[in-house]
Formats: sequence, C-alpha cells, structure tokens
Amino acid sequence: MENGGEAAAAKWRFGAANPALHAASSQSLRSIVTRLYDTLDHTDPRPVAPLGHGDPSAFACFRAAPAAVDALAAAALSGKHNSYARAAGVEEARSAVAAHLSRELPYEITAGDVVMTAGCNHAIEVMMAVLAAPGANVLLPRPGYPMYESRAALCGLEFRHFDLLPDKSWEVDLDGVEALADDNTVAMVIVNPNNPCGCVYSYDHLAKIAETARKLGILVISDEVYDHCAFGSKPFVPMGVFGGTAPVVTMGGISKRWMVPGWRLGWIAATDPNGILRDKKIIESVIGYRAISVDPVTFVQGALPEIIANTDKAFFENAMDVMREAAEICYQKIKDIECITCPHKPEGSMFVMVKLDLSCLDGIHNDVDFCTKLAREESVVICPGSGLGMKNWLRITFAVDPPLLKDGLERVKSFCKRHGKTKEVN
Ligand SMILES: *Cc1c(COP(=O)(O)O)cnc(C)c1O
Repeated sequence: MENGGEAAAAKWRFGAANPALHAASSQSLRSIVTRLYDTLDHTDPRPVAPLGHGDPSAFACFRAAPAAVDALAAAALSGKHNSYARAAGVEEARSAVAAHLSRELPYEITAGDVVMTAGCNHAIEVMMAVLAAPGANVLLPRPGYPMYESRAALCGLEFRHFDLLPDKSWEVDLDGVEALADDNTVAMVIVNPNNPCGCVYSYDHLAKIAETARKLGILVISDEVYDHCAFGSKPFVPMGVFGGTAPVVTMGGISKRWMVPGWRLGWIAATDPNGILRDKKIIESVIGYRAISVDPVTFVQGALPEIIANTDKAFFENAMDVMREAAEICYQKIKDIECITCPHKPEGSMFVMVKLDLSCLDGIHNDVDFCTKLAREESVVICPGSGLGMKNWLRITFAVDPPLLKDGLERVKSFCKRHGKTKEVN
C-alpha cells in the first residue's frame, strides 16, 4: 500500500446504535437461551437436555398432527394459494378461526373480527404497536413472556408489572393491578394456560379479571396460544367468554396445539360482543399495521380450515396424555431435589416455575450462574427466572421426550448435590 498506515481513516457514520432495539433484543429469551447453548461442553458425550425452551415438535412423541401435514401438502399442491393475501389474511382462514373460537363463546364472532398473523409472537408485536399511543402504558404479568416487554420497549410503550401469586396457584394479583393502573393505562395482558407458570385460570378468576378491567376501563389481551393445553383438573376457559364485561383481544395460533411452531400461523380476534374494539378502531388499526408488516405464508393460511376440521380428537388427547405424564415426571423429580421447590404442580402449557434456594448451594451466585454452570457441567439447558422477571427462580419445560426429561432432571439433581453445602452434623 502506497500510503501505508498514513492514509486518513475513513469516517463511517453508521453503527448498530438503536438503544431501544438493543434493550429489547438483549432481553429476549432466545438470546438468553442461545448464550447458554454457547457455554455447553461439546466433549460431553451425553445428549443435551433442552429444558430451556418449549418446542415439543423436536421429539417423535409430540410429532405434528398428521391431518395438519396432509392439509398443508394439499394446500401447496392445489396451486390456489400462491398469491399475496389481503392484509387481514385469507378470508377462509379468518372464517375458520371465527367459527373455531365461536364454538366456545356465548356469542358468535365473524371473519371480520379476525386478523391472521405470522404466529402469536407476531400478534404480540402488532398489539403492542397498536396500543403505543404517546404516554400510554400496559400492564404485564410477572413472571411473564418477555416478548411483550421487548415489543413494548421497541415501540416506546411503557409497561408496568403486576404479580402472579405463587401461593395462589399463580393467579393474578388483582389488587396489584388496580394499584398500578392510572388514567394512561390502556390494557392488561394475561397468558392462559400460562407460560411460564404452568397454571390454568378458573372461570371465577377470569370473571374477576374482566370485572377489574371494566372498573379500570382497559381492554384485556388474552394470550391463548396454549388453548386447551390443560391436563389437570381445571378445564380451559377462553377469556372471550367475559367479552361482554370488558373488551377482550384473544390471541392464538397453531404452533403449540398442533405442534407446528415452524409454520408461523397465528391470529388476533376481537372477542367483544359490544363492539367496543370496533368503535375504538382497534381492529382497523391492527389491519393497518398488518399492511406494513410481515405476512403469514398464504398456503399455510389456505390450509387452516382443513387443519382445524380434520385434526381428530385422538390427536389432542394423545398429546395431552404425553404432556400430563411429562408434567408428572417433572414434578416428582423436582420434589426430589433439595434446593429447588415447586409451589404449584403444573396443570397446563409446557412449563413450570420453580424456586431456587441458593442458601443450600456453595459458590452459586444467582439463577443465571446456576444455569450457566449447569449447562457447562451437565449439558442441561434451563431458563433462568431473571429473564422472566423472577430472580433466583427457574423456568423448566417438560415438553421433552420423557426418558430425556428424566435423565436431564437426574443431572440437575447430581449438579445440586455436587454444589451443595456440606451440612453440619450435630
Ligand atoms: C410460544 C408462545 C408464543 C408464540 O407463539 P408462536 O405462534 O410460535 O409465535 C406466544 N405467547 C406465549 C405465551 C408463548 O409461549
């Protein structure tokens, strides 16, 4: 080079310097779990026990609904779904969702109440953007599903946390909700069946949530991506049942129930018999946002009516039987680990929150430290609770092939023993 090191350095004026994006993405569960995978010891011959993120479709015992696979193949082969779709989604898919949800509501919703999204995560993105009026705030559960925080942060929507109460089957602290809300509060979010707690809300509790929302003049966003993923004594009740008390935005998708998270199909539905969401132009605004955002793939939308119609009861019953068994294994194994306690036996979703007792461990500083060392020493990945707003708790998924789940939790047990404080002998 002629000028050697003397050449004046060019002045590049760009950088990845969007602070809102940095704050939003560094908090995501995917980033946290990816960091844990990066710490794995690849010389360990044991299989990795993936108890950190819920994706049962990786295991043969939870394979995708065969009827859904057939419907998808037929939709692709039909040649009818190769075009762009309207922003609100493919009409037949919207109608199918409306009929599907109406079966369990005391009123009917129509295709016009439904907007298709690229999975439920996309529904979260859309709703946070729609509600982000200057000065507005939303109330989010703690522990929660951090996509809400990330998406709210990214669009400048303030969020405040209400607690879920471990001693009350993880019900919403409704006094806390009332204390948090002010004139700028526009919505509260519930997740039912619940990720990360594994609880299912009763009819009575949902009724109380609706009453509280009515009193505060806010809408309820109900994340029901785990609808019917209830295997305990409480049946799943959709929040939309209480749409006459307070307007409800129901969000869902096929990722979890049909075990096809890679297909990226979800929805937003106005379950609001009084038409308040329509009067407030919420659905119009949702469609407006959808017009400028990513689309769910058209042929997956095209397949949805058959996916819903053709998946038989036996598929869901079998999936719930395996999930119930896995939850039971998880609960029993955890009982057997001294420094971890489970306040509420899982009865829904694919997750359970458990509390870490650091006082019986030596040289483990917090939940992140626990999970990092556990990943390196035992090839077990578990999500630290601090990623969900609960320091020194852990979120464990049991949507794992039962033998690997057992093996993984045995490794957690031996990890805790190895790092346990030696007890004084009197
Ligand atoms: C998995 C999950 C989602 C995302 O669902 P996709 O349809 O895969 O985007 C949304 N909310 C909660 C609570 C989830 O656990």
